[in-house]
Amino acid sequence: MLCLPDIIRDDDPSVQRLLRAVDHAPALTALIRAAWQVARVLAGHMVEAVLAERARRPPAWPACAACGTPLQRKGFAARQVTSVLGPLRWRRRVGRCPRGCPREQVVPLDAALGVAPHQRSSTDLQHLGCALAVFVPFATAATLLGLTCGVTVSPRAVGEWAQAAGQRARAPLHTQLQAVADGDLPTTEPLAAEVAALPLALEADGVMVPLRPAGGDPRGQTAWREVKVGVLARLGRHRTRAGQVGARLYHRRVVAVLGGIEALPQRLALAARRQGLQDVPPVVWLSDGARGLWRLLEESFQDSATGILDFYHGAPHLWKAAAAWLDGRTHQARQGFSRARHRLRHGQPDAVLAALAAALAGEGLPETARDTLTTV
Ligand SMILES: [Zn+2]
Repeated sequence: MLCLPDIIRDDDPSVQRLLRAVDHAPALTALIRAAWQVARVLAGHMVEAVLAERARRPPAWPACAACGTPLQRKGFAARQVTSVLGPLRWRRRVGRCPRGCPREQVVPLDAALGVAPHQRSSTDLQHLGCALAVFVPFATAATLLGLTCGVTVSPRAVGEWAQAAGQRARAPLHTQLQAVADGDLPTTEPLAAEVAALPLALEADGVMVPLRPAGGDPRGQTAWREVKVGVLARLGRHRTRAGQVGARLYHRRVVAVLGGIEALPQRLALAARRQGLQDVPPVVWLSDGARGLWRLLEESFQDSATGILDFYHGAPHLWKAAAAWLDGRTHQARQGFSRARHRLRHGQPDAVLAALAAALAGEGLPETARDTLTTV
């Protein structure tokens, strides 16, 4: 019985060189790399064989878009795209209008395959490049594509794919935002019943993001711009193997937009409606103290959500209060701060507020300390 390498050897002599590399690979790493090369080349041949077979079938020629005359075949023409399997080549029938209408040639097979005219890289390769570009610069993404797929891709190409993907994603988002503005509620995302019963938490903040000064060009000084981010999640409980119970976020969804606070509310409202804001149990709005974000809560979620200042943004203000109140008495200030922070962490904000009020009512408080305590 023939084993797999023999079948391949028999069938396709062009992979013999690659098979020899597999045979002679000394270490496991080299062996895997060499075998991976064979797998890619074979997969490429398989795809090309299917394309060649499909290209032989006579296509249904459409009518000329300009004059309506049935198109006429003009013979076969070569086509190539770069894919995750390397370059793929096929020949397929092209047609033109017999009346010579000035229009590009029509290629039914490419249209059926979802390959656009002038498209030089396959959509799967573009998807991979875009996914990498979420985490690493375009040049690194291009290098990683070369390492994994053995193809040469320029950083500029990865940048253009990401731009195009962004444009494609933008169109349906604008349609959905318009629909919400017109009062059409979006479809709620389906959820398992036990997750749907959990409270919904909304959170929003701004982060500074380093961008290139000129699109597509890494040279020049980094331009820092703000991205407003909203996070939506169900608040659940999780028991560790040691039996400890902790909070855990389920079904997390993220909304992000480049620009100021004015760009966020519509997008966050759309995402919240998709998460069933209108018919879920308690909704929590968690945020830092920024006025713009609390205005967003008041204007968009007042009826459905309870606002909570998050612990990590609240705690530093307690230190300001303790330092002002117990000015010069460092040890007491530290103790007071620790106590207040502990209470805040364990869900006793009223006790913290009462301590602040008591400090304000105390006698002999300097005016600056009074101002600080009032602000806090
Ligand atoms: Zn025509």
